[in-house]
Amino acid sequence: MDCLFCKIISGDIPSAKVYEDELVYAFKDINPMAPVHVLIVPKQHLSSMNDITEENSALIAHIFVVASKLAKELGIDESGYRVVSNCGADAGQTVFHLHFHLLGGHKLNVEMC
Ligand code: 5GP
Ligand code: ZN
Repeated sequence: MDCLFCKIISGDIPSAKVYEDELVYAFKDINPMAPVHVLIVPKQHLSSMNDITEENSALIAHIFVVASKLAKELGIDESGYRVVSNCGADAGQTVFHLHFHLLGGHKLNVEMC
């Protein structure tokens, strides 16, 4: 499958790794929108939020546990942060491998939409 994030997970395309376990890979966004901008992705290829089901919900829960841990490790748990997943055209999704943006390190725009 010709998927950018699958290639990053496999190491075929280099990335600045922040965290990895058997289920999840996290790396710095190449075009950061905030001082901390990490992408957290499941190693399993899911295209977007639309692919989330009861069957893979434990994986999705695990991603949020990782997000909370990374926020602490990156020192933004007290100052605050946002976790975002863009789904589809209206949200501006550009990479169709499910991912969660972890954003923080400065005052984030309060307008979410
Ligand atoms: P989306 O727009 O789909 O929600 O988010 C895709 C994100 O992937 C963007 O923030 C973009 O900067 C990031 N991105 C795109 N290509 C690469 C890449 O090759 N390496 C890294 N580290 N991030 C990328
Ligand atoms: Zn993929």
